Amino acid sequence: MEKRDRLHEGKAKIAFATDDPGLVIFEFKDAATAFDGKKKGTISGKGAVNARISAVLFKYLEEKGIPTHFKELLSPVDMLALKVEIIPVEVVMRNIVAGSLSKRLGIEEGRALDEPVLEFYYKSDELGDPMINQYHVKAMKLASDDELLRIVELSFAINRHLKNFFAARQLELVDFKLEFGRRDGEVYLADEISPDTCRLWDMSTREKLDKDRFRRDLGGVEDAYQEVLRRVEGPGTMS
Ligand code: UDP
Repeated sequence: MEKRDRLHEGKAKIAFATDDPGLVIFEFKDAATAFDGKKKGTISGKGAVNARISAVLFKYLEEKGIPTHFKELLSPVDMLALKVEIIPVEVVMRNIVAGSLSKRLGIEEGRALDEPVLEFYYKSDELGDPMINQYHVKAMKLASDDELLRIVELSFAINRHLKNFFAARQLELVDFKLEFGRRDGEVYLADEISPDTCRLWDMSTREKLDKDRFRRDLGGVEDAYQEVLRRVEGPGTMS
């Protein structure tokens, strides 16, 4: 399978058409951005690390019955995926207070939430991904009622599976962002799952092993991403 036309260049990935109209290739980049693209940089080796981590997690979720767009890795940075129409609603799932939730509600970072919290954001670079709720999704016809129900159901299930997966690798899944796509009446998990899109803390030291090291200039960014890859590819202590 070879890359054809460049379809879209995002902040972290470039999408290419392939010979097969139903498949696309995502090339994962080392480029990193934060704060709506205002902070820019490079995390050396990130493309390959995030592609590998995403591949392992998509395969794991498929085994658990979650439909994902993932097909296979074609090279260290190239992921073959089902072509889906991205639903312009980003889902953030939270288990522990951090980031924007901490600021918005004035709760200190690190407080465990009694139940997972699901938030919706309207996927719009121009608007800076504003937070919305299910009524905005309906009124703006961003997703159908059936799609919305499915997105919520899948998001809570994905959170349960990923929390278990990371816990077995001594990683706390603090929060993460998901994107979904539609194809032939079905909803698929799309995009990526990586330290760019998840907050992951070491379970015993609570050391941050994710993009907050880049956002907050904490240093050791590359090492943190490599450490997550090492643990994700390791056997874990469950199953
Ligand atoms: N997130 C993301 N892309 C975004 C916004 C958030 O991947 O455009 C992830 C982020 O890495 C974190 C979670 O979603 O794991 C929650 O992010 P938050 O709302 O706290 O915003 P942030 O502090 O990242 O601005």
